[in-house]
Formats: sequence, structure tokens, C-alpha cells
Amino acid sequence: MVLRDGASVPPFSSELVVVEQPGTYVCAGGGAELFDSDARYESESGWPAFSAPMTDDALTEEADTRDGVPRIEVRCARCDGHLGHVFPDGPGPDGLRYCVNTAALDLEER
Ligand SMILES: [Zn+2]
Repeated sequence: MVLRDGASVPPFSSELVVVEQPGTYVCAGGGAELFDSDARYESESGWPAFSAPMTDDALTEEADTRDGVPRIEVRCARCDGHLGHVFPDGPGPDGLRYCVNTAALDLEER
């Protein structure tokens, strides 16, 4: 019970790993709408995973080779904040898995 244990619940950002309320995932930095909960799925990576962004222009993608492994970094198109990475092993028709840092997201429940 969040209301009863209000003082002891973990920060909201980390609850996003297990939360299943339908809603819109927005950028924690500026409120830009990034992902719909309908696109969310369980990747068992411990991170929220999405098969597609909310809109085609919600995200920007950039090559990331910082760890010596080429990856595609995804950023918020509005504030340029780092969100996570996109991998080509998703379950959807586009075959994409957007693996997003919980600290970058807020959930607006509906
Ligand atoms: Zn943003």
C-alpha cells in the first residue's frame, strides 16, 4: 500500500521496473511523451523495455561506442537527455527493444 507506507516506498523511478499501470511514459527531464505502456514488455533485463516509441520523432538516436561495443543510444528529442539504448532483438514487428533507464522516465497513469 503506497498510501500507508508512503515514507518507506522506494523512489518512484525504481518502481517503474515492476509497475504495470497503463499510462504514458514521459521524460523525467521535460515531460515529453516518449513511450506508451502498450509498447512496454517484460525483457527480464531488469530495465523497462519498449518495442516502439510513442511517436517517430519522440527520440533521437546516436552511435555509442563508449564501452567498446557499438550500440545505439536513444535520447529525448526535446531535451537531448540520455534515455538508454535500442537493440535489434525486440519482439515486435520492427524487432526493436528500447531499453530505458528508469531515472529518465516518469509514468503518467491513465
Ligand atoms: Zn526530455
